[in-house]
Amino acid sequence: MNTARAPAQAQAQAGRPQRSWRRRLLQARRFWLGPQLKSRGLLWALLVLLVGGLLVLLVWLAGRYESSATQERLETYTADLANDMRNGLARNLRSLQALQHDRSSAWQTHANELLLQHRELVRLEWRGPELGIRQASDSPSRPAAFQQLGRSQSAADVQLACSTALRFNAPAYSTSYFVPQADGMGLELMDLCIPVTVSGELLGFTVASYSLGDLLKEVVGGQLLRGHAVSFTEADGTRLAIQGTPGSGRQLYTARQLVDLPGNTLVMRLESRQGTADLFPNLLTALVSAMTLALLGVLFLLVHDMRRRLKVENDLAEALAFRKAMENSLNTGLRARDLQGRITYVNPAFCRMVGVEAHELLNHSATPMPYWPPELANVYQDRQAWRLANNALPRGGHESVFMRSDGTRFPVLIIEAPLINAQGRHTGWMSAILDLSEQKRVEEISRASQDRLQATARLAMVGEMASLLSHELNQPLAAISSYANGSVNLLRDAQQEASGLASANPRLASDLEMALQRIAEQAGRAGKVIRSVHDFVRRREQRREAVKPMDLMDAVMPLLGLQARKLGVQVMLSVEPGCPEVLCDRTMVEQVLLNLARNGMQAMQHLPQTTPERVLHLRVRPLGSGGWVEFSVADMGEGIDEQVASQLFTPFFTTKDEGMGLGLSLCRTVVEQHGGTLSFERHQPQGTIFVFTLPEAPATSRT
Ligand code: ADP
Repeated sequence: MNTARAPAQAQAQAGRPQRSWRRRLLQARRFWLGPQLKSRGLLWALLVLLVGGLLVLLVWLAGRYESSATQERLETYTADLANDMRNGLARNLRSLQALQHDRSSAWQTHANELLLQHRELVRLEWRGPELGIRQASDSPSRPAAFQQLGRSQSAADVQLACSTALRFNAPAYSTSYFVPQADGMGLELMDLCIPVTVSGELLGFTVASYSLGDLLKEVVGGQLLRGHAVSFTEADGTRLAIQGTPGSGRQLYTARQLVDLPGNTLVMRLESRQGTADLFPNLLTALVSAMTLALLGVLFLLVHDMRRRLKVENDLAEALAFRKAMENSLNTGLRARDLQGRITYVNPAFCRMVGVEAHELLNHSATPMPYWPPELANVYQDRQAWRLANNALPRGGHESVFMRSDGTRFPVLIIEAPLINAQGRHTGWMSAILDLSEQKRVEEISRASQDRLQATARLAMVGEMASLLSHELNQPLAAISSYANGSVNLLRDAQQEASGLASANPRLASDLEMALQRIAEQAGRAGKVIRSVHDFVRRREQRREAVKPMDLMDAVMPLLGLQARKLGVQVMLSVEPGCPEVLCDRTMVEQVLLNLARNGMQAMQHLPQTTPERVLHLRVRPLGSGGWVEFSVADMGEGIDEQVASQLFTPFFTTKDEGMGLGLSLCRTVVEQHGGTLSFERHQPQGTIFVFTLPEAPATSRT
């Protein structure tokens, strides 16, 4: 595990407050709008119910109207049929009355003719005043009706009809009676008794027997409509005779009419079955049904439209909530102004920045603004007037100074853009305002730290040079000194052996000796001075302290960050958790880290900009063997070839135009002074890793 600061993690953290804002806003919306949505749903359900009920009622009323119209038609039809029946009977009566004048022997012939013409008549009789049958004739078109039972069975009915006829001196009908037939069936018969009088004297009666079934068939059967049945019934509904079939519809319509006859009243009943199976029996019902369907269709479309609107409304509310949450969680101040310079919108970050409430800023037309420093108000006012007049904006924003409500000034960066509304019209200006206080403070700190490190670097470099110079010059100086001493000795020996030179020029010899002695003395003195400088340089490395590796990294990161941005390099840092403190000269080790990191970044500088692997990886981990902590700086640069590798730590060796070639040798000196080692190796797949070790701080000196 390591503490690599992955950018994704930071993004995820930044996204968290936005999501929670959004969730909270949605919850609040659900809480407030929930009951409204419920009651809206209820209203819709009620509307659908009402419309449905209305439509059902309409269809039912249309159906009812139609059935009452059918009933009415049936009533009229029945009345017509009853009328036809009355007229038919009246016509028959006239024919039968014609029969009474013909009392000659031709009665039989005439009666037979009548029976042939009127199939509803089953028998004609000519009876005497005492009702005895004088002549009788049965219908030739059927077997004789009274063959089975005999005529006497119905004598009472005939008698009653004739006595009524006699009482009123007019034709009278008997009540109907059933006469079984030979084929197992039977006939419902009704007698008509016509008294025959001449000059007030009763001659007898003409009795005609009607078959009710045939009466229906002959008189009204011809004009009976399909699907209709006409019948004679008794008052209690018992059917006496029927003609036709009432059809096969589900609904039975019936109509009754009385056929009032002298001596008897017949009930004529008409039946018709009409189908409710037919869904659109008439135009009205069809119209209502079509309208119903259209209404349902419109209702469905309305509901669909409503649902779509609700969805759009929801999406809109969600987008609005998201936007609001974004605005509120922004650290950048947002400010909108209209074309007159009045503030129309500020976000919470802007209010926090200047310490003024939004309502104090909105529609603020009287300049100066509350956040303008009074000493700059005139400048700002002129600038605003100029900008409003020219519509000109500086590209990339401009720096300015704002004032908090407590009077403190702070630097800001203002980036402005024209505000264009949905119709594409320019309605004002939108500004993003960044508080630069923190950035300026960090820049100040890093500049100070850079100055300090550069001073230290120069000092270290001078020290290293002095140390090198002392090392390099000590040997020639020592050689000069010994050669000078040797020359003095040689000069003395030669003086003793051959006194020629001394006698020739004793003063020259002594001068030469003195000069050589002076050279030896001065060389010795120079050697001492140089040694003392070397000792002084070596002595300053005694300021060791226990430092956390992370603190070392934190100290160099701002400087590295600046350089990395300039060279387009990404710096990654991993410090193994639980890494112990190291005992070191903090400034010198920072210098080592800076040197190695700078070399690494410069090695990647010449890679094409598009190369993805411009990563410098700084890693710290404790060494397994214990007691040591390993620092490594890995780059993905061009690497180090054999020739360069052999001279890498040689002082003043450099391949750079502006290099001094002292960086690596200084690094090695510093690391070795701490007792550690500095080495390098190839980095896979490309680049170089510089690795150095530092001793762990003993437990007693740890912070
Ligand atoms: P300077 O940086 O001033 O040249 P240094 O002593 O720091 O001096 O480096 C010496 C040389 O070593 C550099 O000029 C460069 O050629 C080589 N060098 C150092 N570090 C790297 C590296 N990470 N990758 C490739 N070459 C390097």
